[in-house]
Amino acid sequence: MKKFKIVIIGGGFAGLQAARSLRGLGNAEITLVDKTGIATMVPALPDALSGRLPMDKLFRPLHELAGGNLRVIVDTVESVSLEHRSVAGVAGTYDDDGLIIAGGSVPLAVPDSFEGPVHMVDSLEGARALRAEIETRVGPDPLHLVVAGAGYTGLELAAAARRGVPDPGALCITVVDTAEDILPMLTDRQRAAVRSYLEARSITLLTSTLVRKTQESVVELSDGTTIGNALFVWSAGMRAAPIEFDEQVERTPDGRILTTDTLAVPGHPEVFVAGDQAALTRDGRVLRRAVNFAFYSGRRAGRNLAAELRGRKPKPFHPVDLGWVLPLIETSAGRVFGGMRVGGRFGLRLHYLMCGFRHFGGRRSGAYYRAALNLRRTPAPLAGSPLPGEREGSDP
Ligand SMILES: Cc1cc2nc3c(=O)[nH]c(=O)nc-3n(C[C@H](O)[C@H](O)[C@H](O)COP(=O)(O)OP(=O)(O)OC[C@H]3O[C@@H](n4cnc5c(N)ncnc54)[C@H](O)[C@@H]3O)c2cc1C
Repeated sequence: MKKFKIVIIGGGFAGLQAARSLRGLGNAEITLVDKTGIATMVPALPDALSGRLPMDKLFRPLHELAGGNLRVIVDTVESVSLEHRSVAGVAGTYDDDGLIIAGGSVPLAVPDSFEGPVHMVDSLEGARALRAEIETRVGPDPLHLVVAGAGYTGLELAAAARRGVPDPGALCITVVDTAEDILPMLTDRQRAAVRSYLEARSITLLTSTLVRKTQESVVELSDGTTIGNALFVWSAGMRAAPIEFDEQVERTPDGRILTTDTLAVPGHPEVFVAGDQAALTRDGRVLRRAVNFAFYSGRRAGRNLAAELRGRKPKPFHPVDLGWVLPLIETSAGRVFGGMRVGGRFGLRLHYLMCGFRHFGGRRSGAYYRAALNLRRTPAPLAGSPLPGEREGSDP
């Protein structure tokens, strides 16, 4: 019997779920190509920055989580040939009879006018580098952390940095955004609560303002303010992970791939896209990037690929919006399950549980749940949290 070659690009929430849903396909050789080889708990990166969650609890090797007949290859995919049915990485080429593209997203490109060092917290390494820089530079002269982008990630990062260094005299934090107000999905009351949360932590919020340029440790804003001894964080938005194709595929302006209702690339019924890399839609509108949509689209993409290879009809993907929680280190604001408002520690715990369940599952992930759900845990200094590939206790 012919063995189908299946390639999955990316082992995040979507790719891993696709791999799990393909496990039952007996006559298949499944290869998961991921640039890191680990599953990272991306939504908890701000907690890694704050020091509340040890970094080593926030990743797991992909081969442990996916199990079954899955081969994990660490490689960065650069391009996909839809015509020749192959995937080209930096280290090798992988032929396929069926493909799932789930490479997630990357930060928006940094404008050329930013000449100084730019921090981004889109990985554990990024969280650690920023934390290390804060720890090194906090001293008698106030250090200014300037975050560009007051979306949920920018606000979470600001809150996380404050938790790591509670003294507002030592670390001044400013979040800057070009929009007139923050977080349009919040109610007025929730928005006011978030604003007073930030105020209580001496986090300055500047809306309708642009970061004009950065140079060494100076940040210049559109209102003419110049901030010295600054540390600059870029959190102004995301775009789809850049992967080239040998033919035109339609994309949204932020690079997400438009698919059919079954998540297939139009004209290529054995190629599916899931998670942040797909322009997932509901009622004609592209949905926000979220764990929930990544998880379920990954599962649907996997099941549809299995159906296609067995000669059955794939099913449409109907995204269900289970709501959202904005985690703010010690508290939260959100709306789940069709309108129920959640907040405080309950919302936080729900957030960690749902993200944990959707990525690490339940098996052998106790260390993550114990650390994440213990909200009284105090921030620890940076040391003692080796990242993948590092020996315990070795220098970062
Ligand atoms: C700081 C932060 C906080 C967030 N908080 C929340 C939250 O609270 N709630 C929520 O719902 N969502 C949150 N999100 C969004 C959420 O994390 C994403 O929507 C989700 O991770 C998308 O899943 P994915 O599988 O598409 O991508 P990812 O989980 O990002 O996985 C992509 C995978 O692809 C791999 N990869 C990328 N490019 C390549 C390549 N070229 N070749 C091979 N492998 C590649 C990566 O290594 C990674 O393993 C947050 C995002 C960030 C950055």
